Amino acid sequence: MKRTTAFLASIIVFFAACNQPKSNNEQRTETQTKIEQEMKTETQNLPEIKVVDTDFSKGRLGLEHTLSLTDLEKFHGHLCDGLVVGFLGLKEGLQQLYPNGIVDRTNTRIVSKSSPCLTDAAVYLTGGRYQFNTFYVDNNIEDGFYIVQRIDNGKAVKINLKKGVKPAIIDEMGKKAVAGELPPCELDKLKELEDDFSEKLLSSGPSENFIVTEVSNFEWNPVLKNDFVKTDILNKNQPICNK
Ligand SMILES: [Zn+2]
Repeated sequence: MKRTTAFLASIIVFFAACNQPKSNNEQRTETQTKIEQEMKTETQNLPEIKVVDTDFSKGRLGLEHTLSLTDLEKFHGHLCDGLVVGFLGLKEGLQQLYPNGIVDRTNTRIVSKSSPCLTDAAVYLTGGRYQFNTFYVDNNIEDGFYIVQRIDNGKAVKINLKKGVKPAIIDEMGKKAVAGELPPCELDKLKELEDDFSEKLLSSGPSENFIVTEVSNFEWNPVLKNDFVKTDILNKNQPICNK
């Protein structure tokens, strides 16, 4: 099935289920599973990021892996638009730091905005870690959601979405959801919009969607904070949509 057709089919399945009264959680789970299976089908040809690490606890550099969005999904907990933005944006940025196409996760550090999805993509894909001073969170990054730096030569790049790429309604509804003000059926609508946005990103060229700019004289100023809000668990006990 063509990618777009398959995705639309998943939306139709979703709406069909949404328009009928749901008697129990099982029905909802079935619907969600169908959508996720469609997403999985969609994402079989996902872009990948090649990385190199050391080969044992005291080992030498040289062990290579290929990381997919599915690998990142397992680490993060779900597939979402933020994860897709993080993965594809980083792939673009890291390409400029490692033109040979293999990202050295022992030689990379990153600053991320505080989104749960973006931060998970940042640490998983770059190897940056808070406890080793190679990762921190900063919501004051201007015109970007990541700044990623290659440690050996100091080259740093900022990564951002181009204006207008992300539908504004996703952030509008997202703010309401974070405030606990999005009713159950609207919550499902938001998921549909985010899945649609993910599909758009995955089916178009990264240069259409992302801007990567070099940051000269980048200063590493770690902000050690642990009170950011994990926004992707705030609605975990919301009732299902019964319309
Ligand atoms: Zn997420």
